Parts: sequence; C-alpha cells; structure tokens
Amino acid sequence: MNGSPGAADLVRLWPPSRAPASTRVTALLVALHGDGVRRSPLGVHHQRMLRLHGQIGGRALDAVVTCARCSTENEFAVPIGAICAVPEPATDAEVALAVGVALVRYRLPTLSDLAAISGMSVPEGLASLAARTCLDDEAPELADGDIGRLAEAWEELDPAAAVQVDLVCAECRADVVADVAVAEFVADELDRTVDGLVHQVDVVARAYGWSEDAILALPAQRRRRYVELIEQRGDPSAFPLAAVGS
Ligand SMILES: [Zn+2]
Repeated sequence: MNGSPGAADLVRLWPPSRAPASTRVTALLVALHGDGVRRSPLGVHHQRMLRLHGQIGGRALDAVVTCARCSTENEFAVPIGAICAVPEPATDAEVALAVGVALVRYRLPTLSDLAAISGMSVPEGLASLAARTCLDDEAPELADGDIGRLAEAWEELDPAAAVQVDLVCAECRADVVADVAVAEFVADELDRTVDGLVHQVDVVARAYGWSEDAILALPAQRRRRYVELIEQRGDPSAFPLAAVGS
C-alpha cells in the first residue's frame, strides 16, 4: 500500500496489544508497506515512523530529558522535519573497516538483524551484529576498538539511526544529550488516534445505526461534524444511563 493509511486501515491494522511500542509500530508498517520494512536500516525505519506520524495528523512530539548534573527536567520538541530530511543511505551502502592489514566489508544492520539481537548485552549484541552483517566469506573476530569504529561508521552511513537532540540545561547550562524513543511517541499517537476513531464510530453508530465501514469511510471532518451534532443534541440512545432513575 502506498500513500497515507486511511481511518479504516488504522482501526483494522493497529495491534491493540501490550507488546512493546517498537513491535507494534513495526507490525503496522509491515501490514501497510510489506515485509521489506524488516530489511530497512534503523534510520530509514525512524523516518518511516515519523512520516506515518505526520500522515495521521500527529501532534508535535514534546519530550522531556532529565539533566544528569542538576536533575532538572528539560522539555524539548523532537525535530521531526530535520530527521525526515536526512538522506537515506543507498540500499547497497557498505562500510570498509580496516582490521589489522585487511579491509573487511559490512552492510548496514536491518530491523531483522536488530530483532535477532534483542535481549543480548550491548557488547554481545554488537559482536553478533558484526557477524551477521559481514559481507566477506569469513567474518573476523573484532576487538572492542574495531567494533567501536564499525558502530561509528554505521552511524555515519545511516545518521537517522541515532535520534539524539543536543540541549543546554535550562537550569545549570550543562550540555544534555537526549535520546528520542521514536517508536514510543508514534505508538502513543496511534493509540490516541485509534481510540478517537473507535469513539467516533461508537457515537455515530448508536445514533444512526451506520456500519463501522461506512463511518470510517467518511472524510475525517464530516465524521467529526456528525459526532459534534450528536453530542450537542444529547441523543438519548447515546447515553442510555441518563434514563435510569429519572
Ligand atoms: Zn542541569
């Protein structure tokens, strides 16, 4: 599917589970765009999540980071436009890493690679990622320094993979680097959007008896207008408890 998902797609496809936000958002993107989503590098995935956020009319993403020095909570806006404007890496982008006297080639890790290392410690996970992404016949053992250089080279090739915002603490002026959990924000927005749509279906279906499909197929503005009319009128069938005890 191309273009923006419609209201019916969101209600049908957004998983109402307690699974982690990243699992739910990835499942929705796979349902919308196909399994190729799992072969995307992380930065491309971040951009796709933020575009989806924009397509569903998502609000500005306001985040909070606690200053390590003075514990002040600093609010900041996630720069969605800037993150989406970062150029995507080429699909065949590779890193050539000097290991001893050899040059070893690596591709960028994909969402599938990252899913495979979930639950591992950071050093174990990075070593496993290096082995999975090595394009040469035999993946060499890497020292910590090699792995650090590989991680830096990956980040350079796919800069939207690390969504970090540099701030100055409003209280003590210390430098603060905020990591942004993109999936969490987008999952919150999807929960809010889908809850709102289901509420609208509930209100309109009670008042007019229309089907869920028919209500979700309405343009968003008209759907909201019907809900306003019904709520202004205080339709008794929408509030069955109002009759109780009167
Ligand atoms: Zn501070």
